[in-house]
Amino acid sequence: YLAKRDRTGVEVYEASRDGNTPDRLALLGDLRRALEAGEVELHYQPKVRFDGAVAGLEALVRWHHPERGRVAPDEFIAIAEASGLMPRLTEYVLETALGQVGRWRRAGLTVPVAVNVSPRDVLSPGFAGAVAARLARHRVPPDALQLEITEHVMLEDPRHASDTLAALTGHGVRMSLDDFGTGYSSLVHLRRLPVSELKIDRSFVGRLVADAEDAEIVRCTIDLAHSLDLLVVAEGVEDDETWERLRDLGCDAVQGWLVSAAMPAAETTAWLRARESRSPETAEPLPR
Ligand code: C2E
Ligand code: MG
Ligand code: MG
Ligand code: MG
Repeated sequence: YLAKRDRTGVEVYEASRDGNTPDRLALLGDLRRALEAGEVELHYQPKVRFDGAVAGLEALVRWHHPERGRVAPDEFIAIAEASGLMPRLTEYVLETALGQVGRWRRAGLTVPVAVNVSPRDVLSPGFAGAVAARLARHRVPPDALQLEITEHVMLEDPRHASDTLAALTGHGVRMSLDDFGTGYSSLVHLRRLPVSELKIDRSFVGRLVADAEDAEIVRCTIDLAHSLDLLVVAEGVEDDETWERLRDLGCDAVQGWLVSAAMPAAETTAWLRARESRSPETAEPLPR
C-alpha cells in the first residue's frame, strides 16, 4: 500500500502529501527497527495546577535518528499512523510509560502519566483489554494512567470508538480530550466522549493575551468544560501573562515551557523531587 509511487518530478511532491515518498518509506523502516531496538525514548512534560501541585505528566515520544538527528513526533506519528505501525508504537509507549510509573511509585512518587493514543489504537481489536492487562502486569492502578485522545477518534467508527472508550473508563482509566478547538470539534463529541479532562489547544492559548477573540474562545471553553464537570488544562503556556490570564479565567491546570518542557525520565525524577521538597513557606514564586 505504500510502494508504487512515481519517484520523479511533481509526483514526488504529490506523494509526499499523503506520506508515500521513498524517503518516508525509509523513515518507516528505520522507525520499525528503532522500536525493536528500543531506541525510541519517552520524555515527560508536567501538567501543573495553579497552586503548584503536579496534576500529572504527559509522555511524549522522542526519536533520535542515527543519521537524521531528531525527527519531530508530528512527522513520524503521521507515518506510523498511515502505515499500520501505530499500534506497535503505542504498545511501546504504554509499556515504557507504565514501567516508569511503576518505578516512580516504588520510589514514593505517585504521579499519574498521560499517554497519547491515536484513533487507530482505539479502533484496534482488543485495545481496552490489552491496556487493562498491561496495567495489571505492571501493578499500576488504572487511575495512574490517563489516555489523551482527540475528536478524530469519532470520525471513522464512532460506535466502536465509544464502546472501547467506555470499556477503558469502566476499567478506571481516565480519558483526556487533547487539542480541543482544532479540526473536528463538535459539542456532540464532547457530550458523547467519556472524558474527564479537556485540553485547550496551544494555538488558542498562544494568542490568548494578544487576541481578544482567542481570549473569548478560551473563556467560553473553560466555562463549557466546567459546566460539563471536566477539568481544563491549557497547553503551550509560555509566559507569565498567559499563566495569569488562565488562572483568572478559572482554568484548572497548565502545561508549557513556562513550567517545563518535556524531560527525560531521570530529569523528571529530579524535577518531581525538587517540587516535593519545596515547603510552602520557602517556596519561590509559582509556577517555576
Ligand atoms: P500534543 O499531545 O498536543 O503534545 C503537545 C505538544 O506541544 C508536544 O509536542 C510538546 O512538546 C509541545 N509543547 C509543550 N509545551 C509547549 C509550549 O509551551 N510551547 C510550544 N510551542 N509547544 C509546546 P511534541 O512532543 O512535538 O508532540 C507533538 C504531537 O505528537 C503531540 O501533540 C501528540 O499529538 C503527538 N505525540 C507525541 N508523542 C506521542 C505518542 O507517544 N503517541 C501518539 N499517538 N502521539 C504522540
Ligand atoms: Mg497530548
Ligand atoms: Mg495537545
Ligand atoms: Mg497537539
